[in-house]
Amino acid sequence: MNPSEPAPDGSTRRTVDVDVDVLVVGAGITGIYQLHRVLEAGFSATLLEAGGGVGGTWYWNRYPGARFDSESYTYGYLFSKALFDEWEWQEHFAEQPETERYLNHVVDRFDLRRHVRCDTRVTAADWDEASGTWSVVTDAGTELRSRFLVAATGVLSVPFLPDVPGRQDFRGASYHTGRWPTTPVDLTGKRVAVIGTGSSGVQLVPAIAGDVASLTVYQRTANWCTPLNNSPIAPDEQAQLRADFEALREILNTSIHGFHHPAHDRAAFDDSAEDRRAFFERMWNSPGFTKMTSNYTDLLFNEAANAEWCKFIADKIRSIVEDPETATMLIPKDHRFGENRPPFVTGYYEAFNRPNVSLVDVKATPILRLTEHGIETADGEREFDVIVWATGFDFGTGALLRLGIHGRDGLALADHWADGPTTFLGVQTTGFPNLFFPGGPHAAAGNNPRYNGDQVDFVTDTLVHARDRGFDTIEVEPTSERRWTDMVDRGAASASFGEISYYFGTNIPGKPRKYLLNSGGRPMLFKVIADVRATDYQAFRMSRSSAGSGDRSEPSVTG
Ligand SMILES: Cc1cc2nc3c(=O)[nH]c(=O)nc-3n(C[C@H](O)[C@H](O)[C@H](O)COP(=O)(O)OP(=O)(O)OC[C@H]3O[C@@H](n4cnc5c(N)ncnc54)[C@H](O)[C@@H]3O)c2cc1C
Repeated sequence: MNPSEPAPDGSTRRTVDVDVDVLVVGAGITGIYQLHRVLEAGFSATLLEAGGGVGGTWYWNRYPGARFDSESYTYGYLFSKALFDEWEWQEHFAEQPETERYLNHVVDRFDLRRHVRCDTRVTAADWDEASGTWSVVTDAGTELRSRFLVAATGVLSVPFLPDVPGRQDFRGASYHTGRWPTTPVDLTGKRVAVIGTGSSGVQLVPAIAGDVASLTVYQRTANWCTPLNNSPIAPDEQAQLRADFEALREILNTSIHGFHHPAHDRAAFDDSAEDRRAFFERMWNSPGFTKMTSNYTDLLFNEAANAEWCKFIADKIRSIVEDPETATMLIPKDHRFGENRPPFVTGYYEAFNRPNVSLVDVKATPILRLTEHGIETADGEREFDVIVWATGFDFGTGALLRLGIHGRDGLALADHWADGPTTFLGVQTTGFPNLFFPGGPHAAAGNNPRYNGDQVDFVTDTLVHARDRGFDTIEVEPTSERRWTDMVDRGAASASFGEISYYFGTNIPGKPRKYLLNSGGRPMLFKVIADVRATDYQAFRMSRSSAGSGDRSEPSVTG
C-alpha cells in the first residue's frame, strides 16, 4: 500500500518511508490477535511492546494469586480450532503463569514473534498529513512509519500509585501488583503491607498470608467479594470441551457479556424468601461471574433485589470471619453489588482468621505518610519489610493518553479527550485518521477478549474494505462518533447505579467523570458493526492520500 510516484527519470520511487502498513502497539491478547489478523490479511505489520515479553496484563501482573475471573477456555482465542484443541487449560480459572505461557504459545504457533519488538515503549505518534502516515517514536529514539496505527494498549495497563506523602522515603521493598518483577520475590517471613482491596489485592492476600510473618491489609473500599470456586479441569471435561467447541464458540460469540453462563429467567421477588435464599446459596457456590450473569434478572436494576443479595453476602462474611469487628469492616457500606467491579476470591475472608493477618480501614484511620520503615496512620506507625500497592490502574484512557498522540493539525489526543473520550465503536475518534484503538474505552463490558476480538475483526475488515477500494486513509465521520458517544453517555446517565467505580475514572484524581465502558454492551457493538457493513462503511470517510500535497480531495466512500 506504499504510495509511489514516477521519478523524473521515469522510474518509480518511494516518496514516503512507510516501514509497514500497520504498526500495532501492545502485545496483550488484543494486540497479538490484531497482529495475526492484519498479517493474515496480507498487510505488513510490526508490533511494539513496552514490556520485556508478550502477554500484556498476563506479563505484568505476576503477583502471587493472579489469575482469571473468566473461565480459561472462554478467555482464550476461538479463531482456531487447532489452537483450542492443542491447549489444555489446567484449571477453570487459570493462574497467571499459564496464561502467559498460552499467549507465548500463540505468538510462536502463528509465527508472530519475528514481527514483535519487546522492550520498546512508544513515546510519541504524529499524524503526517502530507504522506498520510503515522510517525511513531520509541523510547530508544527510533522513528517508525506506518500507514495505520493500532494502539492495543489496554484499559488496565497503567498502574496507579496514590500520592501518599513520603512514598519515596520507605527504605524497604515496594511493588505494584501491576508491575510485579519477573524475578522471584521471596516474601517468606517478611512483614508485609498490602494497600488496596480491589480485584488484585483480594487475590494476593490469601496467596501470601501463610508465608509472611505478618500481613497488614489497608482497605479504603470494602468490596462485595464472592467465591471464585475454581477447580482443575478433569480429562473427561477436557474432551467434552473439545467436542463442544463449535457450540461453545457460538455461545461466546453471541453472548451479551462474552461468557457462556446462561441468564436466569426470574426476578428476585418472583421467589419466596426461602427459595431466594436457596438460589443465592447456589449462586455463592457457582463459578466466577455467574453471580452477575446468571443471577436474578433485576439484580442490577432493582435496589431491593440488590440489597437482598448484598445482605446474603454480608451474612456470609459474618459467618466466615471470626472477629466481628473485622467482619463489619469487610462489609461494604458505600455501594451495591455490581457498582464496583466485583472481585472473586479464594480464601480471602478466611485469611483474616489467621493470627498474623490484620485489617486497617483507611477511611476511619487514614494513611498520613510513609516513613523510612513503614506506614503511619493516626494510630501510629507500623513497620514493614515490604509494601505492596494493589491500588489499581488508570482505567480506559490511561495508556492511550500516554502515547503522545497528535492527529490532524497537531491536535493532541489528550486535548481532544480533555473532557473524556469520544469514540466510534470504541475503535476510532475524529481528527486522528488511520488510528484505531481496539480494547480501549467504550467497547463493552464482560469477558474482555470476546468484545476486544470483535473490535479487532472489525478494524481488520475496515482496513481490507478500504484497500479493496483503493483507499488508504480512514477517518470516522463526526456524526458516527457523536451518536456512539451520546449512546454511551446517555446509558451511563440513566443507569440506576452511582458513578463510584473506576469505570467512571473515579479512582484517578482530576480525571473527568465519564463512563469508560459502553452502556449498550456487546449487543450495541454487534448492531452498529452490522449497520456499518450493511451501509458500505458510510460511517467512515475514506480517501486516497495524495502524498506530498496534503490534498485530501479524493471522494470519500460516503460521497
Ligand atoms: C490482574 C488482572 C486480572 C484480569 N482478569 C481478567 C479476567 O479474568 N477476565 C477479563 O475479561 N479481563 C480480565 N482483566 C482485564 C485484562 O486487562 C483484559 O482481559 C485483557 O488482558 C486486555 O488485553 P489487551 O491486550 O487489550 O491489553 P493489555 O493486556 O493490558 O496489553 C496492553 C499492552 O500494551 C502495552 N503498552 C501500553 N502502552 C504502551 C506504549 N506506550 N508503548 C508500548 N507498549 C505499550 C502494555 O505494556 C501492555 O503489555 C484482568 C486485568 C488484570 C489487571
